[in-house]
Amino acid sequence: MSPSPYARIPQLDRLLRSPEGVSLLERYNRALVVEALRVTLEETRSRLAEGTQPSVETAALLADAETRLRRADRPRLRRVINATGVVLHTNLGRAVLAPAAVEAVALAASGHSNVEMDLDTGERGSRQSLVAGRLCRLTGAEAAAVFNNNAAAVFLALTALASGREVIVSRGELVEIGGAFRIPDIITSGGARLVEVGTTNRTRLDDYRRAITPETGLLLKVHPSNFRVVGFTENVSPGDLAALGREMGIPTMLDAGSGALTEAPMAGWEEEPGVREAVAGGLDLVTFSGDKLLGGPQAGIVVGKSAHVERLARHPLARALRCDKLTLAALEATLRIHEAGRAREEIPTYRYLSRTVEEIGPMVDRALASLLPPLHGEAMDGVSQVGGGSLPGQELPTRLLALRADGLSDTELARRLRANDPPIIGRTHNGRVLLDFRAVADDELPPVLAALEAIRDDLP
Ligand SMILES: *Cc1c(COP(=O)(O)O)cnc(C)c1O
Repeated sequence: MSPSPYARIPQLDRLLRSPEGVSLLERYNRALVVEALRVTLEETRSRLAEGTQPSVETAALLADAETRLRRADRPRLRRVINATGVVLHTNLGRAVLAPAAVEAVALAASGHSNVEMDLDTGERGSRQSLVAGRLCRLTGAEAAAVFNNNAAAVFLALTALASGREVIVSRGELVEIGGAFRIPDIITSGGARLVEVGTTNRTRLDDYRRAITPETGLLLKVHPSNFRVVGFTENVSPGDLAALGREMGIPTMLDAGSGALTEAPMAGWEEEPGVREAVAGGLDLVTFSGDKLLGGPQAGIVVGKSAHVERLARHPLARALRCDKLTLAALEATLRIHEAGRAREEIPTYRYLSRTVEEIGPMVDRALASLLPPLHGEAMDGVSQVGGGSLPGQELPTRLLALRADGLSDTELARRLRANDPPIIGRTHNGRVLLDFRAVADDELPPVLAALEAIRDDLP
């Protein structure tokens, strides 16, 4: 009687003592190696049970375990190719940094830096001073400060200026930005009381005026970033609200959301609430994100009147909400580019937003030319989105590569694209995967073509 095939599977201990096993133990943590081998052995046994004939050689088993170890050891945060057509995709990390910003981060990360030291005096300095000057010049504000993100900036402002008091907001501006960020909740969690005025579609200055009481701590405007109210609408300009605040001695603030700062990369840009305009209109504080239309790192920027910015910067919570040196390095480099008027040339977000169909079409054509059955594709007209709650309803015409593979569902084809290294993220639609190259860098196109070839080679 021949021995049971199971008996030919080596013991885990023997595998660990083999030269290949010893080599694995030199490179990986022992517990991980044991676990990988355990899974390999388990799978080998169940494949034997199914009647297939897996190799039970020591070398093959250890090679299998090594593949598992390598996969498990791969960083979880990976660079991916954004072929969704959403330029500022929150799930994909929003803005891509300019090369100069990436360099600044590497420089600040690879050694010590003067993040809180004044190099003239050798005394303790303020990290805010690293970017405040540029922010003031770019926005025309008296003072500026930066926090972890815009949600943090808004929360800090509400807490510092209006805790225990009333905040007046238009009903048309009580927005949810996504996830857990809802303006009414932020107001209450900062310890302030929400006073809604006006209606969903129309709010007038008189609505704010009539709601003011001795308890009022702040008049707040919020940019309704991800939707648009059209038709019979009316709302109060930043300048008018600022004038009312001054007259009544109440601070005023705009949460500008995406914060359009300088050059316009695309039509419709002028509809975004300009930070400069809001500051010029006399609002005490204006807040916006660093990683939306500014094209920089995640950050919450506050600009405005010195006295009000100071109140935020001095609040005990400011320490908990501050941003780190890597963020400040990336932000400073991004602001330098804006100051030099080179945003369109150097900031990827600007480059992607300004891409035309005439530029995107040839990228699709290159991919089409490389396709072979059973992978099929065609070019289609489509629409990209700005994303990040910016420029709602603003249509960016694009060309799409619509892909399908014989014998594969759209979700399976999309999964294989995501399983590529680097992962490629598209969207499925009616049995096909749509790839939009608007936010795909020029040097990311060859990896996309290679992935299509590899997926095709894997198909029967
Ligand atoms: C995006 C957005 C926020 C949140 O900004 P984060 O930087 O993501 O925290 C807040 N308010 C408005 C109006 C926004 O558009």
